[in-house]
Amino acid sequence: MTVPSLTSRDARAIAGIEKLRSFPIEVVSGHGSTLVEPGGRELLDLSATWTACGLGHGHPAVVEAVTRAVANAPGMGTGSAIHPDAVGLAEDLLALVPGNVEDRRVYLGHAGSDANDVAIRACRFNTGKSRVLAFEHGYHGGIGVALGVSGVHVEGGATAADPDSGFLPYPNPYRPRGGSPAADLEYCLAAADQALAAGDVACLLVEPILSDGGFIVPPDGFLTGLAELTTRHGALLLCDEVKVGLGRPGTLHAFQHDGVIPDIATFGKSLGAGLPISAAVGPASILDGPAGAALLTTAGNPVCTAVARAVLSTLVAEDIPAQAAERGGRFLASLQSAVAGGGRDGALAAHVGSLRGRGLGIGMEIVSDPDSKARDNALAEKVVHRAWELGAVVYLVGGNVLEITPPLVITNDEVDRGVEILVQSVEDCARS
Ligand code: PMP
Repeated sequence: MTVPSLTSRDARAIAGIEKLRSFPIEVVSGHGSTLVEPGGRELLDLSATWTACGLGHGHPAVVEAVTRAVANAPGMGTGSAIHPDAVGLAEDLLALVPGNVEDRRVYLGHAGSDANDVAIRACRFNTGKSRVLAFEHGYHGGIGVALGVSGVHVEGGATAADPDSGFLPYPNPYRPRGGSPAADLEYCLAAADQALAAGDVACLLVEPILSDGGFIVPPDGFLTGLAELTTRHGALLLCDEVKVGLGRPGTLHAFQHDGVIPDIATFGKSLGAGLPISAAVGPASILDGPAGAALLTTAGNPVCTAVARAVLSTLVAEDIPAQAAERGGRFLASLQSAVAGGGRDGALAAHVGSLRGRGLGIGMEIVSDPDSKARDNALAEKVVHRAWELGAVVYLVGGNVLEITPPLVITNDEVDRGVEILVQSVEDCARS
C-alpha cells in the first residue's frame, strides 16, 4: 500500500478557500531564517511567512514567553477578565505608538483582518459617518468589512465591495500617471481630496507600502499629503502597519518615514511572531464603545499577549529596526548591482523591471522587457518556483512582483545567499 504524501493529504483535508500556494512546499520546522522540509532539506526563508515571523522562527525570547505563559496561563481573554500581560501589552503599545490625542485605547484581536474590521466599524459607529475610503489594489483583511474594502479581493472577484466604500489611486513611481512620480503623486492626492471633500468619510485606510498590491513604495510626501487632507476634511486616518510595520522598513513604524502620526494604527503578523495576535491603537472616543461590540472570546489571551510583549521588547532592546535598515540596504544594493551588470545573457537587465524597497521589505518586479514594462506573471511564477528548487522561499504579490521580506534577524551571509539564489533563478528561467 502506498502512503499518501503530505501534499495529497493537504489537498483532501484543508479547504482551498484558505490557500494561496505558489509551489507545493511542505515544512516541518524552522529556526532563525531557515525552514526545514520533511526530508531535512533547509530553505532560506525570504518571506517570513508573509512577514508574520519578523523575529524569525523559534526566537529564544518568543520560546521563553510561550513556555512561561502556557505553563501558567488561565484560559481567558480580555472580554471576560483582566490579565497583567494583556494590560501590559496595551500599555507597551501606547508607549511605542505615537498618537495625536491624550486619551487612547488599544483593541487586541487575533489577526490583521479583525483589527482593521473592528477599527473600521468603530470609526463608522462613533463618527456617525459611514463612508470608508481605501486604495485600489490594497489589502486590509480576508474577512468582514476589512475584506470589502480590500482592493485586491474586490478586483479579483472574491467579494463585492463594501457598499459604502470608495477606492482611490495609489501612487506608483515605476508606472507614474502623468509621466512623472511628482505628477502621479499630485494626481493621487487630488483624487483623495475630491473623495474626502463631501465630508461624509469616517476613515481613510492606507498601507504605508502597498504590499499585496505589488510592493509599491510611494514617493515621499504621500502619507503627509493624506494626513493633511484627512485632517482638513474631518476624516480619521488609519495606517495599516500589519504587513510592513514593527521594524521591517528600518523604523519601528512605517509611517515614521513620512513623519506623520495617524489617528489609528493597526498591527498584526510580526506582533505575534507566528502566533495569532493583532492590535488597533487609536482614540478612546473611537475604540471605547459600544462595549462588547467586538468580542472574540480568546482575544488578548495570556499566551499571545506574553509573546507580543516579548516581540516588542526585543525589537526595542536589540534595535532591530536599525539592523533591518542595514541588512535591507545590503540586500537591495546587491540586487541593484547585479541587475546593473545585466546578468547571465542579459537576463536580469531584460526582466527585472524595477527594484524598490525600504529596509527588509523589497519588491522585485518581473517584466517581459524593460521598455514596455509589460508584466510577466508567467515568468515570475517560474522564478519563485525555481528559487524554491534552489533553496529559498519567496512569494509573489501583484502577480509579477517578488515580495522579499525575510526575517529581520537574517544575517549578512544569508542576505548574500538570498541574492545569489534570486539572481540565478531569474537567469535560469529567462534562459529556458
Ligand atoms: N493588512 C495588510 C496590509 C495585510 O497585508 C494583511 C495580510 N496580507 C492584512 C491586513 C490581514 O492580516 P491577516 O491575514 O493576519 O488577517
